[in-house]
Amino acid sequence: MAGGGAAGMIAAWRAASAGFDTTLLEANDRLGMKIRISGGGKCNITHDGPMASVLAAFPRAQARFLRPALFAFTNRDVLDLLAREGVHAQARDNGRVFPVDGPGSAAKVTAAFEALVRRAGVQVRLGARVRALEGRAPRLEALVLEDGTWLRADRFILATGGASYPRTGTRGELLAALGALGVPVAPWFPALAPIPLKAPRPEWEGIPLREGALLLKAGPGAKVLARYPGDVLFTRAGISGPAALELSRPVEAARRDGAAWLGYELAAGDLDGDLVALQRENPHLAVRTWLARWLPERMCAPALGMLGLAPDQRMKDLPRAGRKDLAALLAAFPLGEPGRVDLEKGEVSAGGVLLSAVDPRTLAVKGWENLRVCGELLDVDGPVGGYNLQAAFSTGYLAGSLAEVSTHST
Ligand SMILES: Cc1cc2nc3c(=O)[nH]c(=O)nc-3n(C[C@H](O)[C@H](O)[C@H](O)COP(=O)(O)OP(=O)(O)OC[C@H]3O[C@@H](n4cnc5c(N)ncnc54)[C@H](O)[C@@H]3O)c2cc1C
Repeated sequence: MAGGGAAGMIAAWRAASAGFDTTLLEANDRLGMKIRISGGGKCNITHDGPMASVLAAFPRAQARFLRPALFAFTNRDVLDLLAREGVHAQARDNGRVFPVDGPGSAAKVTAAFEALVRRAGVQVRLGARVRALEGRAPRLEALVLEDGTWLRADRFILATGGASYPRTGTRGELLAALGALGVPVAPWFPALAPIPLKAPRPEWEGIPLREGALLLKAGPGAKVLARYPGDVLFTRAGISGPAALELSRPVEAARRDGAAWLGYELAAGDLDGDLVALQRENPHLAVRTWLARWLPERMCAPALGMLGLAPDQRMKDLPRAGRKDLAALLAAFPLGEPGRVDLEKGEVSAGGVLLSAVDPRTLAVKGWENLRVCGELLDVDGPVGGYNLQAAFSTGYLAGSLAEVSTHST
């Protein structure tokens, strides 16, 4: 087994519990580094609700692939397992499930999985980074460590994760090694990452835009290519927040295609009609006061400036063109062109071993007798909300569910 993260720990625990002589190789000097930093150190373990609704949060092809794994090891199974290790969790109103312990609880989740792994008798080798894969379809022969050591086994499970947050141990190098062996792979691609802007607004750092939707277009006047409802937060370099993370992947794809522009839909509907009515009913109302219904106070004067309107502009003096501009501003508040979305800053990495190359019932790589892959190394990237850890736990469980045989090592 290579990779002692969410998927690898569950796979190793599962295989060893079934009597397999299991060795877990982990590049870091401790297990589960990414779980430790997950959910801001609190760990959003999974998502609440029936598995059908958990599955529905993934893109359709991924959901189809994940179905056997997520039903084999459900969110309830994960939480029961943790509860038996003394880590109790509860769901928030938005369905995200966290340990009840609060800050730092991600470390307890990691410790619980590590305890399971060790009790099951898994031989854990820390500081053991796999550099290369030796073999030829249909059999993998050995994992080659950085110091040149070859580790042979009857079966291999790879759970080395994605390529984001490389300082947590995930550099993504085994994807290329798999590709070189002829396993179909999609290159790593940024996902769930903050979006830099070509013209950032550092003076707005920390300000949120709420209750609207982030829009991706090819240009300011172009049609909407993608829309994600949710908040965004201005950062020094661009935008973050739920909607920005979720839209980062299509934004980077559009940017690479040569045309990407971002706006935030603050309000929808017949805004021009509303403004006409308002000019009649409340002519002395300051435009800025009206704007503050949607836009944070600090942004109102600069927003009026963007339209060439004075900060004390009254409704009654607003010309037709100004009204139209104002309605357009609320329909798509301009954030401008995105910069390059950084793969390393993503909560997950898109790309990985192609799902079509893997049997969803076993996680075995097609055409290979003794090779399974699980977790983020697969071409799976769910939304924020506990979905990605659940996918890692479930695929790890299925990958570690090896057919019972007398003496074998993994
Ligand atoms: C900041 C952050 C916060 C997140 N928060 C959440 C959250 O709250 N909820 C959620 O559902 N998801 C969250 N995620 C995503 C989630 O952590 C991952 O989807 C999940 O950890 C993937 O599990 P994995 O086992 O496939 O990979 P990982 O957990 O990344 O584990 C892979 C392991 O393999 C090891 N490894 C890599 N290469 C090698 C090699 N060549 N040889 C040996 N070992 C190797 C790595 O050191 C690592 O320990 C977050 C991600 C980040 C970056």
